[in-house]
Amino acid sequence: MNTFEKSQAIRNQELQATKNVENFLSTIEKSNPSINAFIGINKEYALSKAKEIDEKIKNGEEVGSLAGLVFGIKANISVEGEIISASSKTLEDYRGSYDATVIKNIKDQDGIIIGMCNMDEFAAGNSTENSYYGVTANPSAEGHIPGGSSGGTAAAIGANMCDIAIGSDTGGSIRNPASHCGVYGFKPTYGAVSRQGLLDLSMSLDQIGPLSNDISGIAMALDTIISHDETDCTSLNIEFPVFTDIVNQSQEKIEEDMKNMKIAHITQFKDITDNNINNVVDKSIDKIKDMGSEVVELSFDYVDLCLPTYYLLNYVEFFSATRKYDGRKYGYKIEEVCSEEVLRRIEIGSYISQQEFSGKYYKKALQARSLIRSEINKLLESVDLIMGPTVPNLPHKIGEELEPMEAYAYDILTVIANLAGLPAGSMKAGEYNGIPVGLQFQAKPNDDAKIIKAMTALELLG
Ligand code: GLN
Repeated sequence: MNTFEKSQAIRNQELQATKNVENFLSTIEKSNPSINAFIGINKEYALSKAKEIDEKIKNGEEVGSLAGLVFGIKANISVEGEIISASSKTLEDYRGSYDATVIKNIKDQDGIIIGMCNMDEFAAGNSTENSYYGVTANPSAEGHIPGGSSGGTAAAIGANMCDIAIGSDTGGSIRNPASHCGVYGFKPTYGAVSRQGLLDLSMSLDQIGPLSNDISGIAMALDTIISHDETDCTSLNIEFPVFTDIVNQSQEKIEEDMKNMKIAHITQFKDITDNNINNVVDKSIDKIKDMGSEVVELSFDYVDLCLPTYYLLNYVEFFSATRKYDGRKYGYKIEEVCSEEVLRRIEIGSYISQQEFSGKYYKKALQARSLIRSEINKLLESVDLIMGPTVPNLPHKIGEELEPMEAYAYDILTVIANLAGLPAGSMKAGEYNGIPVGLQFQAKPNDDAKIIKAMTALELLG
């Protein structure tokens, strides 16, 4: 039963929302002590909300599209009454005083929030080893990192602790852990989902999005969280298609749509990726060819520019975002309690922001970003989608020490979508030695539906 079918079963009283919550609570009780996906659980709230929904359904009252489905939320998205620590000691006692717009949307549709998920501190990282609450284990690859920074949300999905999880993606933080944990993860077009209520890492790159075990869960979440929001000045005001309808189209229609798709893979993406990953991804490319899509190989010559551009902008924007954590209004002064990685970003961000240096580095990074954006969009003029690996390396073993540059290199294939504001999704392509390998699709801004279509086709026919 996929997530959409489960929502129908709840509506038809074949499954009680209460039972759904209880099942997840028992899995969490059993597995969370070893996996550490959740760092906060609100059992009473989830059960009482479920009871309320069951009651409404029994009485024939109208319920929302997510009625009875259970959500895990990354600990940097504000949920009223919950601890919103961003996995940092800085905010260990900080309780959300309001619901982020995405949370409001989910609650309006009767989704049930069960708890808050672990992450790299302030979303700075890609392994979830860098959390004040300890590392999260990868439920799909024992002993390996789950990826990050939304590692807790991906592990919660991988370990069946909730139906849908909501993460944030600044340079890959939804897609990277989705890839390492073998689940679905989607970063929408920049501006499609409101960032109001998200503790920002780098505001011009941050985007909230869903993770789930099937494409219907992703689609249902997107239909709910995509909305125009006047309180977020970067929020788009455009109509997106109903993603759940795309996922539920007939097989014939999906097959027909795939025959009309033109999809590229990129030479340079392959060159920088582990061959064991390429071999798995190539099989997905073959499946797409078998569906009748036209597959072409294209060249993107700016790969080397992407990481320096991304990290420079990230450091500067993060430095500015953290100035409010001065220990006066809430929590601790960030520099006094944060991890080495967060401090590195603050210090270098501060240095680059100084008048005499900002022109030298920051302005150049902005120019490089425009170049990357226009070049990747040029490629996307000639094709519907770009497909390839999500992460160039397999998840390393927990505790293996990486130099900052080695760690940053894991992000090379995901930062492009953030720099250019593109939608991008990751799904499991297969495994190497029992370790999940992710496949990434990217499209032009606002073409999120094309990615959903291709992912649906692979889920159905792959
Ligand atoms: N790993 C990247 C970074 O550390 C991306 C993080 C993210 O997407 N939140 O900046």
